[in-house]
Amino acid sequence: MDVILFGPPGAGKGTQATAICGTLSIPHISTGDIFRKHLKEGTELGQLARSFIDKGQLVPDSVVCDIVASRLVETDCAGGALLDGFPRTVPQAEMLYAWLESQGRQVGAVINLQVDDAVLVARLSGRRTCLSCGATYHVEHNPPAENGKCDRCEGDVVQRKDDSEDTVRARLQTYANETAPVLAWLTPRSPVHSIHGNQAINQVQSDIEEALRG
Ligand code: ADP
Ligand code: ADP
Ligand code: ZN
Repeated sequence: MDVILFGPPGAGKGTQATAICGTLSIPHISTGDIFRKHLKEGTELGQLARSFIDKGQLVPDSVVCDIVASRLVETDCAGGALLDGFPRTVPQAEMLYAWLESQGRQVGAVINLQVDDAVLVARLSGRRTCLSCGATYHVEHNPPAENGKCDRCEGDVVQRKDDSEDTVRARLQTYANETAPVLAWLTPRSPVHSIHGNQAINQVQSDIEEALRG
């Protein structure tokens, strides 16, 4: 099954992705993670993406669509994938739906995580991320056992540059202007399940599982 994990920055998409992928046995495709990998490796694509990411703007559709298209053709995606943070614009959604249709596939569920802006700002400015494996923590809600060190891989846990408060506000504005309207495009085309993301992590997870059991 192909599933879209939709919601504003900080809604908990990354946090919930692991459990969904485990339940459905599908790979996790996070466009944000793909860009961060390129940033870390210093590729040309990473340089290009950085100029947008650091300002809280979207990377251009043509770049994002190429990356997703080349990821979706890998063999592990043949039985479906979890798309986290994609699509974020209507042209991205059109590309995804056209490609899936060409493969005789369709989006089986859109999980829409809803969280108020005030909570999002607190979550994102308190978020800390492992430089090595990408695991996310929160200074108050979910700190690593040892300060600054990843529980999973012992990598350095730091604040993402785009999680500073100014950039967070720009990202929320970008979401409202460019990404929120995508939900209206998705609604007549796929089953959309809206979930209260402002609950404990475990409760959000069980609501998602219930929605997926449908
Ligand atoms: P979050 O999950 O906190 O919203 P992501 O890690 O998904 O953040 O994305 C980080 C940044 O990467 C975004 O602010 C944007 O600049 C870029 N990005 C990620 N996915 C997309 C996309 N589908 N389209 C355009 N830009 C994207
Ligand atoms: P997204 O991928 O949607 O940007 P994340 O999964 O990275 O969001 O979560 C953003 C921050 O909020 C992280 O620091 C994470 O630990 C924290 N977080 C995620 N879900 C919850 C929740 N249900 N309650 C409290 N904090 C949460
Ligand atoms: Zn780690």
